[in-house]
Amino acid sequence: MSIPAGALTDVVETLPDARDPLALSLNENPFPPLPSVHSALVASIGSANRYPEFLPQRLRTLIADHLGVDDGQVVIGTGATGVIMQVLQAFTAPGDAVVMATPTFDGYPIFAQIARLRSITVPLDPHGHHDLDAMAAAARSARVVVVCRPHNPTGTVESAAQIHRFLDRVPADTVVVLDEAYVEFLGAGERLDTRGLVQQYPNVVVVRTFSKAYGLAGLRIGYGFCSPDLARRLWTMQLPFGVGLTGLVAVAACYDAEDEMRQRIRIITAQRRLLSARLRAVGIYSTDAHANFVYLPAPGGDRAVWRQVFDGAGPRVRHYGDGGVRITIGVRQSTRAVLSAVAAYRDRTRGESALAGTDAVRTGDAPTTWQT
Ligand code: PMP
Repeated sequence: MSIPAGALTDVVETLPDARDPLALSLNENPFPPLPSVHSALVASIGSANRYPEFLPQRLRTLIADHLGVDDGQVVIGTGATGVIMQVLQAFTAPGDAVVMATPTFDGYPIFAQIARLRSITVPLDPHGHHDLDAMAAAARSARVVVVCRPHNPTGTVESAAQIHRFLDRVPADTVVVLDEAYVEFLGAGERLDTRGLVQQYPNVVVVRTFSKAYGLAGLRIGYGFCSPDLARRLWTMQLPFGVGLTGLVAVAACYDAEDEMRQRIRIITAQRRLLSARLRAVGIYSTDAHANFVYLPAPGGDRAVWRQVFDGAGPRVRHYGDGGVRITIGVRQSTRAVLSAVAAYRDRTRGESALAGTDAVRTGDAPTTWQT
């Protein structure tokens, strides 16, 4: 296709490369939309002169049917981000507090700031798990508390028993955001019975997204589900004409292609296992990852190491203030690029660095204490 000169040329040339194997900093899916999803999206663009539904009722029904809950329990947002903002807008007032782990998904401190909330941060434990007892205690003086399962950036998962114990302790009038942005990467045995959970705990909102496993980050589609009472209040925050036509079509096409989706998830999970195993083989600890990324704390507490490994080496990864690094899982070529960067660094520093020997960081050691 030839693209005429002008504004369009500039824009098209700067679109992100769907297949860039080195884009490993945003936990995106390495695969472009499936052919069936792509064609459905192209077909829907022909109706772009028309508004979508006033409120996204059809998308709501589609998702509710897929989940096996009532329509009245589902809300739609511009990504999980939009849903989380709806929760904060519906249930908090400026000056209220929100409890979150630290580190957590970068968005949360930003959302708190937009909603003019005080953030109460609770450090993860040395292996990257939530301190749920401390969070439940802090939730007594907060309107909202956030738990990510799997957690970002560590990929860790709290057990069902721990989640129940936590929910039993959180006051009934504090809203719990159970962020399941990466839930599709969990095995069947690792998933919570979230339908039962929102019945048992009417203060829980489960938040999900089509940005990660479904690979539609650019379309901005997220949803939440919860008790009918909370959902009614959240639905009043639903922006008129706020979800584009493409959202409904893309979700329908994704649901029709579940087998292919699952296959892609298996490929990503296999690459994650491979990367973790290869790193472990050279003594590099990573937290117990259950999503499409791994988190490597600073080896031996040396905050400079991961920057020295990855700066200018190719893979673009996400660095953290305590010297840890989060690496999104991509395709095989991405895994190779990460391992090459590590190997090159080890060669370069020959015995002089924290990554030099296989026993430099003993796998399983408590790797870090988080900055607060
Ligand atoms: N929650 C978590 C834990 C995330 O990691 C992300 C994205 N990185 C989101 C929510 C937001 O996702 P989106 O707005 O793209 O749906």
